[in-house]
Amino acid sequence: MTIAVYPGSFDPITCGHLDIIKRAACLFDELIVAVFDTPDKRLMFTTSERLQLVARAVADIPNVRAEKYSGLTVDLAHQVGATVIVRGLRAVTDFIREFELALMNKHLDQGIESVLLMASEGYQFLSASLVKEVALLGGNVDGMLPPTVLEAIQSRIKSTTPGS
Ligand code: ADP
Repeated sequence: MTIAVYPGSFDPITCGHLDIIKRAACLFDELIVAVFDTPDKRLMFTTSERLQLVARAVADIPNVRAEKYSGLTVDLAHQVGATVIVRGLRAVTDFIREFELALMNKHLDQGIESVLLMASEGYQFLSASLVKEVALLGGNVDGMLPPTVLEAIQSRIKSTTPGS
């Protein structure tokens, strides 16, 4: 039985992330989507909100569950019995960072393999940060986010926009 973890900040989970999750769920017996507690990023959602949005988005995929974590991804992998770290690779932008991460994780633990899945054609240029930016400016982000995430972003924007 092969268990894989898919770590990220998921602020929030997008259709690009979900595409990687569905494809990885077909490759491994169990997939844990691991929501990193303290990414070095300005966040729109708290850890428990990000976790809840991921949990809702994967609720209908039987071999996938969501967990939050802090610390090293390889340590989380050990705790949950995973031997694979899944990541997504978008056109050009992700390559160097993902290469660095994969080599560092290999250095930290020889027993854990990184598996990089190419982003699907329609999601190559989709990033959570850009979706948030466009949504905050009132742009149309239909088809980029799972429906519950779209609702969460819209209500977050309403609650933080003065006079709304
Ligand atoms: P982001 O880079 O959008 O802030 P994360 O830090 O949560 O997202 O990324 C987690 C993983 O998901 C990374 O490996 C990242 O490259 C991948 N990923 C993010 N967006 C997409 C997408 N649209 N298609 C495929 N993989 C993606």
